[in-house]
Amino acid sequence: MTLDVAWAVGWVRASAAAVLEHRDELVELDRQIGDGDHGENLKRGFTAVVAKLDALEEPPATIGDVLKLVATTLMSTVGGAAGPLYGTAYLRAAKAAAGPTLDSAGVVALLEAGLDGIVARGKATTGEKTMVDAWSPAAEAAAKAAADGAGPREVLRAAAEAAARGAGSTAPLVATKGRASYLGERSAGHLDPGARSSQLLLEAAAAAAE
Ligand code: ADP
Ligand code: MG
Ligand code: MG
Repeated sequence: MTLDVAWAVGWVRASAAAVLEHRDELVELDRQIGDGDHGENLKRGFTAVVAKLDALEEPPATIGDVLKLVATTLMSTVGGAAGPLYGTAYLRAAKAAAGPTLDSAGVVALLEAGLDGIVARGKATTGEKTMVDAWSPAAEAAAKAAADGAGPREVLRAAAEAAARGAGSTAPLVATKGRASYLGERSAGHLDPGARSSQLLLEAAAAAAE
């Protein structure tokens, strides 16, 4: 079994739906340790992505084309920290997933490239209470599942589960990157909004493969 362009389009649409559904929750999380705009930033971004997808005259030819559209649109519409971070993640992922289909190794490469983009842009490592705390365990779990012989759907499922655990693990952490780091010790006791939104995006990727 391989994933195709329809999966990528499904991922984007499921991401937009999840972001809309969780907009208020993401705003509230960001209100606690940031400036309260994360849910609205992502809502604006993914609404624009879906509008661009709907306006295409021809369906995208490759998974990379879909992810590149996401990247450029998020970069120009999301703003804040998350716009460039997610933009870079999707741009790197687009390069890693340039072809029309993905096998398990391809899914791993996509996730690792996304993580690399976030790290290249934001210079965070795990434990700093950022989206890296969702993406890093997700990429790791994906690689492990693929090495164990799992198909792409199971690889994505493993990644989503690890992302959920990773996002949950940010609650007790003290932020040392981004706006939340201004709070110092007071950032502890709250989930990181970007880790939570990353969980939602990776869960959408897995759901689109079901
Ligand atoms: P802003 O903080 O500019 O308002 P958002 O609210 O949209 O931007 O996004 C905040 C999220 O961005 C944080 O919850 C965190 O996950 C992520 N983030 C911020 N800085 C970094 C960084 N240097 N590396 C990785 N992720 C980061
Ligand atoms: Mg914010
Ligand atoms: Mg902001």
